[in-house]
Amino acid sequence: MLNFEFKNNTEILFGQGQIKQISERLTPNDKILFLYGGGSIKKNGVYDDVVNALEGFDFVEFAGVEPNPTYETLSEALKVVKAHQISFILAVGGGSVIDGAKYIAAAAHYEGDGWDILVNGAEVKSALPIGAVLTLPATGSESNGGSVVTKKATQQKRAFGTPIVQPQFAVLDPTYTYSLPPRQVANGVVDAFVHVIEQYLTYPVNAPLQDRFSEGILSTLIEQGPLALAEPQNYDVRANVMWSATMALNGLIGKGVPHDWATHMIGHELTALYNLDHAQTLAIVLPALMFEKKAQKREKILQLGRRVFNLENADEEALIDATIKAVRDFFEQMGVKTRLSDYDLQEQAVTEAVDNLRRNGLLALGEHDDITPEVATKILRLAL
Ligand code: NAP
Ligand code: FE
Repeated sequence: MLNFEFKNNTEILFGQGQIKQISERLTPNDKILFLYGGGSIKKNGVYDDVVNALEGFDFVEFAGVEPNPTYETLSEALKVVKAHQISFILAVGGGSVIDGAKYIAAAAHYEGDGWDILVNGAEVKSALPIGAVLTLPATGSESNGGSVVTKKATQQKRAFGTPIVQPQFAVLDPTYTYSLPPRQVANGVVDAFVHVIEQYLTYPVNAPLQDRFSEGILSTLIEQGPLALAEPQNYDVRANVMWSATMALNGLIGKGVPHDWATHMIGHELTALYNLDHAQTLAIVLPALMFEKKAQKREKILQLGRRVFNLENADEEALIDATIKAVRDFFEQMGVKTRLSDYDLQEQAVTEAVDNLRRNGLLALGEHDDITPEVATKILRLAL
């Protein structure tokens, strides 16, 4: 097992009705920015719950944070933060709203153009505090320090991360997810699944507890994901999916083990260029990446096949191929297509995505830093 430090500073308020607790976590003098997305919260009652919970507090709304939040929109929100001297951001939505809040929180305390934080490695020294009300279990953003922001003007989707922008608290009410369209339920399950895989499917480092945490989350997603589609108002199913997605990327399972993240990095380019959903890009890239890297990932692919998909085969090559197929089949079962051609993308997309990786300086991805643009090209060709 590798050395690590572990601290997770987000207080999780889990379960139906927990929104009522947030007033105790805010201070009376706070000037709050109530940040949300395209309006789903006005249809499912979450908006009303938040307004009720904020009774007596001074707050300003900013709506319209889009999926794959943009620098352009977040810059407008930043103007509101400055004009109203905001002291706390309450992000209500999915990963996009929460990621957007993190960018705004950091940019509010940064003297220059906040985009420097994403492309020039400008250090985040302080940020506005954030709270989250999660409506879409997927990203883990509610209890991590990661944020992904897109600049429309340059078609760049870039990430930054620091514990300084991690939410202080996160409300996880499974009933808030009942209104999700099937596509977003599926996206969330696939995203969480791939978060686990990126921290598990590398090479063994004698960390059996970490492996079993990961295998527990993967097995739960495989079991509960299809149920979440079939029974949208089953509280326990939604609760287990929600908790799985948080656990997939709150830091715990990634401690002491190598990380990959190449699927995410290649996937980001497909979203930046063609506006595919985040999870769609992951479903395209991961099976192809597993195939391309099957020699290096051999032991963990075999372990995944045996322990998570309960596959058996004396022929290990056949078992590896069956495991990759099982991953693809799971994504397809959830309704997320796994090939570039399913999204009307052809060879040109491979070239453009790899050009974007080069432009962003992403020249050595994966747990061995050996997914060069040439290897990424092979992976994306396999995904055609
Ligand atoms: P999202 O982009 O936040 O939301 C997708 C859609 O779902 C939106 O149209 C939203 O509508 C709708 N929605 C959300 N909750 C709903 C509900 N309860 N009922 C009905 N509709 C609802 O999706 P996401 O998958 O959570 O976030 C994706 C973003 O997170 C990507 O940019 C991705 O790169 C990033 N990401 C971040 C991390 C991290 O660690 N920070 C990890 C992985 C991915 P409204 O806008 O109307 O609410
Ligand atoms: Fe993700």
